[in-house]
Parts: sequence; structure tokens; C-alpha cells
Amino acid sequence: MEITTFKDEIKELVDNQRSYFKSNATRPVEFRIAQLLKLKELLLEYEDEMHEAIFKDFGKSKYENQLTEFFPLIDEINIAVKNLKKWVKHRKVSTNLINFPAKSYLVPEPLGVTLVIGAWNFPYNLSLTPLVGSMAAGNTTIVKPSELPVETSKIMAKIINENFDPAYICVVEGDIPETTAILAQHYDKIFFTGSPKVGKIVHKAAAEHLTNVTLELGGKNPVIFAKDCALKTSVKRMIWAKFVNSGQLCITADYALVHKDIKDEFLKIAVEEIKKHHFSKERANYVKIINHANLERLAKLIDPDKVYYGGKVDRDMRVVYPTIMTDVNLDDPVMQDEIFGPILPVIEYETLEEAFDIIKTFEKPLAAYLFSDSAENKDRFLHEIPFGGGCINDCVMQNTNPNLPFGGVGQSGMGSYHGKYSFECFSHFKAVLDKPTAIETNLKYYGYSEKKMKVFKML
Ligand code: NAD
Repeated sequence: MEITTFKDEIKELVDNQRSYFKSNATRPVEFRIAQLLKLKELLLEYEDEMHEAIFKDFGKSKYENQLTEFFPLIDEINIAVKNLKKWVKHRKVSTNLINFPAKSYLVPEPLGVTLVIGAWNFPYNLSLTPLVGSMAAGNTTIVKPSELPVETSKIMAKIINENFDPAYICVVEGDIPETTAILAQHYDKIFFTGSPKVGKIVHKAAAEHLTNVTLELGGKNPVIFAKDCALKTSVKRMIWAKFVNSGQLCITADYALVHKDIKDEFLKIAVEEIKKHHFSKERANYVKIINHANLERLAKLIDPDKVYYGGKVDRDMRVVYPTIMTDVNLDDPVMQDEIFGPILPVIEYETLEEAFDIIKTFEKPLAAYLFSDSAENKDRFLHEIPFGGGCINDCVMQNTNPNLPFGGVGQSGMGSYHGKYSFECFSHFKAVLDKPTAIETNLKYYGYSEKKMKVFKML
């Protein structure tokens, strides 16, 4: 489609959504719940097609898709449906003496027309989970999934666009020119998941209309193995988290900081754990790298002289096999940027200060992990290292608890979502002081006096 025609169509779509929002159609809680249940029904109806689509895009198996995308998405809808009547209630806060007698409360208010831009690595989850939050909060929404997994983008467009009024929710597919045109419109909220580089483009576009943004970005996430950690279980947990989805996971461990006294044992267990997964050419469902450009980017990060295990790249299969690199230093290409693939650089350290200093040479990460049973180590990790979210003695699993907000800090993002935090992310909370008229004091009115000032000071 001609980009000028596309621009006109987007403008019309946004205008229609704005009119629909202003009609108050999206505000009743019953409407929101009914639409969320309808979305859930559709997802269940199309489940098999969704699994097939993601398998075609990058070889993700049904089991892994269910575990990492489908069930969490359905769960997010269930949580919203179950709690929405509670979430929309006024939230009482206490009233100070100067306003006595009065009530004070927060009133959740939908923001209006929202835009959700998704990333490709968990294409369903990253496009539709924010949509659930936006619907629960009573907004209209345009969803722009990543263009890289073509089939998943197509199936999401089919499910939504054939079953919902586009003035309410709509999927618009497109590459960079289309996304640029979409971003030129005025929204009341933009929710973006992707790289810090594109996050800046989105933030600038939003600034043009003073639009509220949530940016879910990435970074170099450290995982620390302290000398005292329960090594076998710790490594097992980290290896699964590192290589699931072939390392194409924003909160995975980017690099490992391992105490020098346990490094040899760490490496031995890590290799054993990788082998247990039987990642091989024959195993058709080892998740592929999303495209050739990313595969070549990853291939360049592998320094054959520093490969401890793996290092193989299969261009025909579009696969990078699990790779561990040792003797890595901070000047190596693998330490310059977020890896976002199945390569684990291992860096040895002697003191916790040394490990913390390395972490602090990078921007604030989206996630950080510590394996240790020492209360002192845990305390120092929590209070000295800035990060979006993380775990002690596990890796990536913070993401699976909807009671924890999910989001970054600094270069790894702003704002958070999941569960009730998604509802809050897509709402404004009006701050209201609600006062009866039966009683009125004269304190604030003209006729100031020392006596009145004394009462003020006391209050
Ligand atoms: P990306 O930034 O390249 O793309 C994300 C989205 O932005 C896509 O929909 C894409 O079409 C759009 N886009 C790309 N270039 C654009 C441009 N010039 N102008 C306007 N829109 C543009 O990111 P990606 O490759 O899809 O995902 C990888 C990155 O996302 C990694 O940095 C990863 O850490 C991060 N990520 C973060 C989270 C999170 O929840 N914090 C989740 C997944 C991925």
C-alpha cells in the first residue's frame, strides 16, 4: 500500500477510535469484562493456528509456546476479569486535618486512544498482554506487532480484526515506514517493547503530543554466582533461562560473573546441563534465530579462541547452538551490547566489589540475578545494584509472578505492567478531595491574624 494512503487510513482509524472512546462505550466494567472474555475465547479457538504460526516463524514448539506465551497471556486475561471490579473502585487515601471534614480518593480513569508496539521475541505475549491491560483500563487500542515474525503478526491481525470493531481494538501490521506513520498520530498512551535505540525514536514521537509512554527495553543483564551458592541447582536454573527461546529473551542472563574458586565446577555443570537439553540439528524444535541478520550479528560475537563449549552456527537451519565463552574481557565484541542470543560469556571475579564494578560499567539493566545463600551478599546485591527486576537464586522467573510489576529503569525502560500494574499503566488516577458543605471554617479566608496563623501552624 502507498505510504500516503496508509497515513490517511491511520489518521481515520485514530479519529474513529477517539470518537468511540468519547462515546463512553469502553467505560462500563461489564463491557470491558465481556470484551476480555471474548478475546480469551478467540485465543482458545485459534490456539492451534497460533502454535503453527510461531513454529513457521522461528521453530518454537507448541510446548514452549504454551509455557512462555500462551498460558501467561490467558492467565493475564483471567486475572483482569477476576479483579476488574475491585481495580475500578475508588482508592481511598487519608485526608489531612486542614481539609476536615472531607474524603479523599483516587479515581481510575481510562486514558483514551492507546498504541501498543510489540517486539518479535515473544510476539503474542509482548503485543497482546499490554492490550489486555489497555482493554481492562477501558481504552481503545491499536496494536502494531513486530513485522519480523510474519505469520504470528498475520494471525493476530486475523483474530482481532475479523472479530472486533476497529474503532475499539485493531491490529495494524507494518515495517518501519508504517510504524513511523503510525507514531505521527496523537495517542493518549504509547506502550512500546523493543530496543533502547527504537525506544528513543518512540519517546521523541510521543513528546510531540506530550503523550504518556511506557518503554519496555533491554540491556546487559548480569548473573552473579557467589562462592557459597548451591552450584548444581543454581547452574541448572540459569542454563534453562539462558537458552530458552535460544537466548532471545530480554530478561535472560546476558553474561555470568563467577567466583574464581567455583569457575571450573561451574563450567563443568553448565556443559552437562546444556547437553541434557539435547540441542541438536535433529531436534527440529530448537528455537531458530529470528532472521539471518540477527544470526550474522550473533556469529560475529563468537570469538573461536574464547569458545569453551559450542560455538557452532548453522546458517541453513538458522540456528546458533548454545555457546559458552571464557576468558572474556570487557573490550570483547560480546560485551559491547545486549547479546540477545544463545551465547554466554563467563567472567571470573575474586571479590563482590569487583563483580559489582563490572556491572556498574554498563547502563542499568532490565534484570539482574544473584545466586548465593549469604544474607550479606543478598543485602548488598539488592542495595548496591540498580536493575528493573530480578531474582535471588533463580533466573527470569520473576516474570512469571503477576503480583510483581515488570519493567526496566533508566536505559532499560520506564514504567511497568503485568496483573494490576497493567491496569494502572493504562489508567490515570484522578486525585479527588470530596467535601461536604455542612461545615465551614474561616481559617483560609481574608482577615488573616496571628491567631489564625498559630492554628495553621498547628495543623
Ligand atoms: P526493535 O526495537 O528493533 O523493534 C521493536 C518494534 O519497533 C517493532 O515493532 C518494530 O517494527 C519497531 N521499529 C523498529 N525500528 C523502528 C523505527 N526506526 N521506527 C519506528 N519503529 C520501529 O526491537 P526487537 O528487535 O523487536 O526486539 C529486541 C529488543 O527488544 C531487545 O533490546 C530486547 O531486550 C528488547 N525487549 C524488551 C522486552 C521487555 O519487556 N523489556 C521484551 C522483549 C524484547
